Amino acid sequence: MYQLVKKLRELEPYEPISGEYKIRLDANESFIKLDNSELSEVINSVPINRYPDPYATETIKAFAKLYDVNPDCVTAGNGSDELISIITGCFLEKGSKVICFSPDFSMYSFYSQIYELDVEVLTKDENFQVDFDFVIDYANENNVQCILFSNPCNPTSEGITADKIAKLLNKVNALVIVDEAYMEFWNDNESFINETDNFDNLIVLKTCSKAIGMAAVRLGFAVTSLANTKALRAAKSPYNVNSITQAIGTYVLSDKERIENNVELIKNSIRSLYWELINGDFDFFEQIYKPKTNFVLIRTDSAKEIYEYLLSKSIAIRFMGKYLRITCGTDNENMALLAALKEYK
Ligand SMILES: *Cc1c(COP(=O)(O)O)cnc(C)c1O
Repeated sequence: MYQLVKKLRELEPYEPISGEYKIRLDANESFIKLDNSELSEVINSVPINRYPDPYATETIKAFAKLYDVNPDCVTAGNGSDELISIITGCFLEKGSKVICFSPDFSMYSFYSQIYELDVEVLTKDENFQVDFDFVIDYANENNVQCILFSNPCNPTSEGITADKIAKLLNKVNALVIVDEAYMEFWNDNESFINETDNFDNLIVLKTCSKAIGMAAVRLGFAVTSLANTKALRAAKSPYNVNSITQAIGTYVLSDKERIENNVELIKNSIRSLYWELINGDFDFFEQIYKPKTNFVLIRTDSAKEIYEYLLSKSIAIRFMGKYLRITCGTDNENMALLAALKEYK
């Protein structure tokens, strides 16, 4: 009888919230919906019978222009998720020691485990900070090959300042993967996207699923040295980003003004949502963490009850043990959420 290998027997499929909810504030997507009719010409121009451009040349050009990076240092992926998978699967060898943090984006340890890496998950302190001096010593003493984290962090919404990351990059030989999925919402000055010439062990990840508002099309990018980019392009599957995604990506990424306007709208939304939450007398919330992202993290002993109560009102947020993570929405969505919370208990 066929037996799955042990690592697959123990694996649980990723289960996003299922069911239809009127208000979705659970996945950190952008609430700004592109008018699809705008895309008909873009999609019509795609030759469906032909394979995609393996290097997504035009899409990478648009991305590189937007972020002022060298297009030769950029690789496109089917979401940054795929890039995390390729990097952990191909840049490391079975049993390589890897550092992730907790709490942080779960995909880092997920893929590391799938690829049979030796993952050490270091727990952040009660303020969600990482002691990078400890990490540097630990990495050097234990022959750590890779350190992965998001900045700012999903789900804590905390940020790591550039001085700390520069020190880490300088003091370890390990590959350092900085996932800047939410950097637009915090501070460009803390970004390392323009620093890949200066550190041969740095990979910066970007996604179009959050600030850019294209979660549906699955598009992400890795920015790294020329040598690493050559390896990454060689290791990925040839046609990883489909032609429709490339075409829509090129079109949307070329419109800098719209992207900047949308980022401002999202920042306004999270600012006002946070303000309403901290001034709303919600005494069932023990702590509301100041956001540097398009979502806010809340600690409460009633997380499960509040989560289920909101679902019953057709509002989906993310439940994580003693925490709730709420993505900002349109004004109406935020108001509906706050009104529901005011009725709670
Ligand atoms: C949402 C998210 C991603 C996912 O990116 P995709 O491009 O949609 O795969 C990556 N990293 C972090 C930290 C995220 O929160």
